[in-house]
Amino acid sequence: MSTALHRAEARVAAGQRLDRDDALALWHHADDDTLARLASVVRARFHAPDRATYVIMAIVNYTNVCVARCDYCAFYKFPGEAGTYLLGFDELVQRIDVVAGHGGQLVGFNGGFHPDLSVHDYCELFRKLHTHYGDRLAFYEMTIAEFMFVAKRSRMDYAEAVRHFREAGTRWITGGGAEILDDAFRLRHSPGKYKVEDFYDAQRAVLDGGLGSTATMVIGFDESIDERLNHLERLRSFQDERIASGGGRLSSLLVWTYKPYHTELGGQEVSTREYLRHLALCRLFVDNIANLRTSVLTRNEDALLGLRYGANDFDLPTEDEVTQKAGATVSLEFEAILDAARRIGFTPVRRGAWAIGGATAGA
Ligand code: SF4
Repeated sequence: MSTALHRAEARVAAGQRLDRDDALALWHHADDDTLARLASVVRARFHAPDRATYVIMAIVNYTNVCVARCDYCAFYKFPGEAGTYLLGFDELVQRIDVVAGHGGQLVGFNGGFHPDLSVHDYCELFRKLHTHYGDRLAFYEMTIAEFMFVAKRSRMDYAEAVRHFREAGTRWITGGGAEILDDAFRLRHSPGKYKVEDFYDAQRAVLDGGLGSTATMVIGFDESIDERLNHLERLRSFQDERIASGGGRLSSLLVWTYKPYHTELGGQEVSTREYLRHLALCRLFVDNIANLRTSVLTRNEDALLGLRYGANDFDLPTEDEVTQKAGATVSLEFEAILDAARRIGFTPVRRGAWAIGGATAGA
């Protein structure tokens, strides 16, 4: 065993924080079983070792109009192109009712950067939806990327935009649209979207303003291991800052994989093995976010193997046009997916929409 790998293993056993050299040693030199074993040690500091939680949810894509032009995206249409859409309230209700019919507890909204929508437009829609559904469903109202765009478009600073969303009843947004949080990566693939520090300014405003938020990461584009570690290191330091502030913090880290089909960037999907190893690295390196979520949407039943590599929570998705357009497949055979968790020794427990890693459904 290399000295560097030995040091990393010793640090995990002692409950010490890993540095980048440790992470690189684990990534390059630890075998799969070692990574799974070490990630499980850290997972067990937060969660029962044989239990995993899940929620049934959908991502409803309310518009495909987008001016960002990310080269890894198969979903968007530029304004004026054939095939653009923007769903109204009645169409959204129809879509959401389908999700609820599948037992869905949570609906996340995700759309393009639509140049004609303002914070007030979103707030008006959210108010109507909250009135219509009451407490029957929980909503992740938008991704942080959309939040940033619409706040700027409405000439509001982030704190002011958060106040408007709170008044409209918004409780949570997600850290979606993060992909790889590294400015060189962003310049290569989505130069018009945002810079990394702007992203964290927005997350800070959201959490300071009393909304909940999450962290996400997507791997499998053309990013280097250094760019992945830049993402994880900045995320970890941001969560340190939140913990020190005593204010709201990021509730979870969801990792999924790029789907390359029908995109300008193209490429090939990362293997399940690489995904699982990356999950383990996330669990080991990002030691201050309790919940690590594995992606059934992009890895199907293989995602459940992630429970052995440090993940503790997952979605059972009923739809997401963005990833489905790029090659993701959705299965409504929920029991078969849950059996994949049971076969490897985990008891899947349905949780409340807001209770990641914690209480059971209805809590
Ligand atoms: S990933 Fe999102 S922001 Fe980028 S082009 Fe697609 S819809 Fe627009």
